[in-house]
Amino acid sequence: MQKIQAIRGMNDLLPENTGHWQYFEKIILNLAKRYGYQEIRFPLLEKTELFTRSVGEVTDIVEKEMYTFTDRSGDSLTLRPEGTASCVRAAIEHGLLHNQSPKLWYRGPIFRYERPQKGRYRQFYQVGFEAFGEKTPEIDVEVILISHRLWQELGIANHVALEINSLGSNEERACYRKELITYFEKHQAVLDADSQRRLYTNPLRILDSKNPALQQLIEQAPKLLDYLQADSLNHFTKVCQLLELAGIKYKVNPRLVRGLDYYCQTVFEWVTTALGAQGTICAGGRYDGLVELLGGKATPAIGFAMGVERIIELLFEFKKLPPSESLADIYFVAIGEQAKAKSLVLAEQLRTTALHLKIIVNHNDSGFKSQLKRADQSGAKLAVIIGEDELNQGKATIKYLRVEKPQQQIEFNQLIQLINNDQ
Ligand code: ATP
Ligand code: MG
Repeated sequence: MQKIQAIRGMNDLLPENTGHWQYFEKIILNLAKRYGYQEIRFPLLEKTELFTRSVGEVTDIVEKEMYTFTDRSGDSLTLRPEGTASCVRAAIEHGLLHNQSPKLWYRGPIFRYERPQKGRYRQFYQVGFEAFGEKTPEIDVEVILISHRLWQELGIANHVALEINSLGSNEERACYRKELITYFEKHQAVLDADSQRRLYTNPLRILDSKNPALQQLIEQAPKLLDYLQADSLNHFTKVCQLLELAGIKYKVNPRLVRGLDYYCQTVFEWVTTALGAQGTICAGGRYDGLVELLGGKATPAIGFAMGVERIIELLFEFKKLPPSESLADIYFVAIGEQAKAKSLVLAEQLRTTALHLKIIVNHNDSGFKSQLKRADQSGAKLAVIIGEDELNQGKATIKYLRVEKPQQQIEFNQLIQLINNDQ
């Protein structure tokens, strides 16, 4: 039979690597608790309209990256291409925003039809944090501090840099938009097809273009920051001051516009030079208009999402992953049917009393040597050997696999005590 392979750009996470992800997730779980964030889980599938309305029609995601299909009842559904829209939808739907300012976080797979390459997949994982109901610069900075603390705890703080910008209010952006169109119109010949198409629909997105041929033009374009009025400017200045007060280094990047439509005011990215072209590991910003846009009561909000694959890759790169755990502490080697039954029962008794022990029992009929080899490969410290002799004497043989220590025989009913004392 021909083998069936996974879909391009969708990865299996193999047992040798799941430990790394669990390590990362444990840190996230703890971090979220320490800042008062509660986990929310929402479906992988949503009505397509949720994303076209929130992410924006003229964005990479909606134009060409969504996995959209019609289900059996004729509804257009989309595999979530990001988390914020679903998070907001769920928060509105369940009244989480009524007289409350919830802080939520989520994790899980995200789907985008992109050209697969290192750090860019069609199914990838994000962890996101969202804080609702607060509009002060302090919350903006607290959100950035969460991500900063994460890099510290992961040991990669020296390898990532913070870039920030302000997108101002809708009115300010509308004003800037006109100027930007005028500017790009003058250089229309240089624009690529994507940018030509966006010139009148979403010119800000041209600033987000990754096309090297456009970088100089983008560099010289008018800057949004110059179009901010007092309120937005004050907010942004305060964010910068608070970051300095908190000892967080940052760079103002006037080209930072983010790939989605719903952002306003503060936006930020954490970038690294260690991953080649896919350098953004975490991105976020304020989205004060989104709740209302999705049918809720106007609620300020700010959040960020990070790409887990890119972060794990960084941890690999800088050797910051903890050594992998052994599979077992105790490995039962059993020869013969009766011995196998005895091992099964003894191991189960042991699991009842020693909750911390990892115990593997060999259940197949392979020979002594091959079982012992597996015991060794499991990383176990002890092999408990039960064969015919042992059964006759009512004793198990204990073989120490990691230390120079003579093997010993121990009565079955004392085995549990010995192991408990030994470990
Ligand atoms: P990029 O500019 O790299 O395309 P983006 O602006 O589309 O990123 P966001 O929508 O802000 O990315 O998603 C947040 C984070 O998710 C990114 O910073 C990145 O770490 C990660 N990410 C985005 N797309 C992918 C992908 N296709 N594969 C793996 N990780 C991704
Ligand atoms: Mg993208």
